[in-house]
Amino acid sequence: MKSYDVLIVGGGPAGSTLAYSLRNSGLKIGILDKQSFPRQKICAGWVTPEVMRVLNIDLADYAKNNILQKISGFKISQLGQKQVESHYPGEPISYGIRRIEFDDYLLKRCDAELILQEAFKKMEKTEDGWLVNEKYQAKLVIGAGGHYCPVARAIDSKGVSELAVVAQEAEFEMNAQQKQNCSIKEEVPELFFTPDLMGYGWVFRKGDYLNIGLGREDKNKLSGHVKEFCEYLAAEGKIPADVTAKYNGHAYLLYNHAVRKMIADNVLLIGDSAGLAYPQSGEGIRPAIESAMLAADAIRDCAGNYNSDKLQAYNDAMEQRFGKRLPGPDTMERLPMFVKRIFASQLMKTRWFTKNVVTDKWFLQSHQTPMPAIKE
Ligand SMILES: Cc1cc2nc3c(=O)[nH]c(=O)nc-3n(C[C@H](O)[C@H](O)[C@H](O)COP(=O)(O)OP(=O)(O)OC[C@H]3O[C@@H](n4cnc5c(N)ncnc54)[C@H](O)[C@@H]3O)c2cc1C
Repeated sequence: MKSYDVLIVGGGPAGSTLAYSLRNSGLKIGILDKQSFPRQKICAGWVTPEVMRVLNIDLADYAKNNILQKISGFKISQLGQKQVESHYPGEPISYGIRRIEFDDYLLKRCDAELILQEAFKKMEKTEDGWLVNEKYQAKLVIGAGGHYCPVARAIDSKGVSELAVVAQEAEFEMNAQQKQNCSIKEEVPELFFTPDLMGYGWVFRKGDYLNIGLGREDKNKLSGHVKEFCEYLAAEGKIPADVTAKYNGHAYLLYNHAVRKMIADNVLLIGDSAGLAYPQSGEGIRPAIESAMLAADAIRDCAGNYNSDKLQAYNDAMEQRFGKRLPGPDTMERLPMFVKRIFASQLMKTRWFTKNVVTDKWFLQSHQTPMPAIKE
């Protein structure tokens, strides 16, 4: 039997950031993941500079072996209508990464003991923690297994119906002909809001790779919406007509709509496992990383006692950072559909709204106070 102070289930950005934050804490840390790394992850792979800064990623070093696409603007529209382009001179406002590279980079540097290609099967309560898969004793188990995290299921969410964003996406390397037939500019990803404001599609070119996807807060006929979206993009000459890549699906919870509890005795959830994505953009990497950093602070303060009273400090810190959860529909969602359609079609045509609200507030979270970077 192996023993850990902290056993993290899931080696995505949330799990590896927690391990990295605790690497000098003296705690014995293991990461259990069902996959081997590098592994593919369905994601557009768009991150804000804030993510790179808090993680202390040396951009030049990262870019030596990995794609790091600088972004200097966005083209935004309601699907089928006029696009409005916003430009930001100076430093990049975001980056495009490939998750197969980014997650591997973070996992390799985090110094934890890696238990890969082994799925979490079960956990049983013991006197001072949990026994995982009948062979790993852990004082604290971290659920970092993404949207379908088995640790989250083990402590809660049975029978809870959650309103998730469902998305489909394809990422592929374009051949020479496809590159010629793709009019998307690398530095300017394009976003297309659906008329009912239930979601948006995107096209994002990262070097030779093209990432196309669409997510909605309504799982009805998702494949149909994706098909229509891709046909529209091809007809507009934005993407090559001969895309054969498979569209894969995944889901995630927006912070407001998640009802998962984040702590139990000797258990704590971070990242998508806790349901943290920003409501308007669906950006989940930054909240995953920030939750891991707040969890690391709370874990240090627990000084080895991980009962739920002690872990409450994490809940409080999360609420302070991300606000109180409001699982019901918000003001915007309560508006009748015809009002939403008018709202969307008029505002999405204006430079003021697409830049100041959609780009700055919804996508770049420019109103958020930056967190201190992880201590080296
Ligand atoms: C289509 C799509 C596009 C997105 N685009 C963006 C974007 O551009 N920018 C952004 O910021 N966010 C985006 N997101 C959200 C983002 O991908 C997630 O918020 C982010 O991956 C959360 O990180 P995580 O570490 O919590 O979970 P994950 O990255 O999902 O990692 C979870 C890990 O747990 C492992 N695991 C799962 N089950 C088990 C098990 N039973 N046993 C052991 N291990 C297990 C998995 O193998 C995986 O490695 C997107 C999401 C989707 C679906």
